Amino acid sequence: MEYAESLLDLIGNTPLVRLNRCLDGVGGGDGSDSKGPLVLAKVEYLNPGGSVKDRIASRMIEAAEESGELQPGGTIVEPTSGNTGVGLAMVAQQKGYHCIFVCPDKVSEDKRNVLKAYGAEVVVCPTAVPPEHPDSYYNVSDRLSSQPGAWKPDQYSNPHNPRSHYEETGPEIWRQTEGRITHFVTGMGTGGTISGVGRYLKEQNPAIQVVGADPSGSVYSGGSGRPYLVEGVGEDFWPETYDRTVADRVIEVSDADSFAFTRRLAREEAMLVGGSSGMAAFAAAQLAREISGTPEGDDAVIVVLLPDSGRGYLTKVFNDDWLAQYGFPNGQPHTARTVGEV
Ligand code: PMP
Repeated sequence: MEYAESLLDLIGNTPLVRLNRCLDGVGGGDGSDSKGPLVLAKVEYLNPGGSVKDRIASRMIEAAEESGELQPGGTIVEPTSGNTGVGLAMVAQQKGYHCIFVCPDKVSEDKRNVLKAYGAEVVVCPTAVPPEHPDSYYNVSDRLSSQPGAWKPDQYSNPHNPRSHYEETGPEIWRQTEGRITHFVTGMGTGGTISGVGRYLKEQNPAIQVVGADPSGSVYSGGSGRPYLVEGVGEDFWPETYDRTVADRVIEVSDADSFAFTRRLAREEAMLVGGSSGMAAFAAAQLAREISGTPEGDDAVIVVLLPDSGRGYLTKVFNDDWLAQYGFPNGQPHTARTVGEV
């Protein structure tokens, strides 16, 4: 019989899928007559918790078990409501740990309910109080994580975050491309993905180009931390988990381009992914266009990592009114339909 013992055994080993139509004719390199960069998406929403963050959740928890920081029956406390929370909640549920997530009151009810569905506890803190207030996000999370039996993974400083990508994601990409990868493109939040995958790939072949994609305004592309709308990527500080030596280049992408490309991925490649995936794929397409027609481009194999699913953004990126409210084009050309046409 073919079955997994636990959902946790299904983390990682995500497939590479070729991008075709959204590249507007750029591309090839698949062994056929058409020359040009082959662009492959690493589809991380096929992880059981729905994002790339399942990988770090499982690795950080395993490491804490090994070091004794997390004891049987212990409590995991993390100030997150995003993909890392889902990964931690899923792994914790399977391993019998209690999970408490601390999040600001601006986090949507849907996101809180996802965490609760796995059995986690969600503590909501008011945004309208100063950081020194006892009910502030910072104070509540510090207080909870200093309780006996509590452990805080802290994805922004935990070395097992980049390590999971160095030990798993990087080797998967190297194996799947049979060592032919020439460029790796990814967004950066904690920087764990780019740092771990990038370091592993460069150790295999120092000529591999590691390219970060970054929302305009974020520090990684020289911004001051001014706000942008793409979620999960970009920072207003330099996290410990980001290795500043690994990226050869950072491509800055506007919110408008990120969202338009996210919509194209759904409409043209049937990939329902989040805004950070659209941002990374936009950068990969730009790179493909730049090197297309050059000797470098003829043999290029560009791998772009798509971190999560579009399901969590149906009321934002996939809502025309939401896009229109910010003045963004909705990314889908409306084709006129004749009445009666099926
Ligand atoms: N996209 C999304 C949707 C994310 O949640 C994250 C993680 N914050 C990233 C991209 C970036 O990954 P990393 O933290 O490894 O840089």
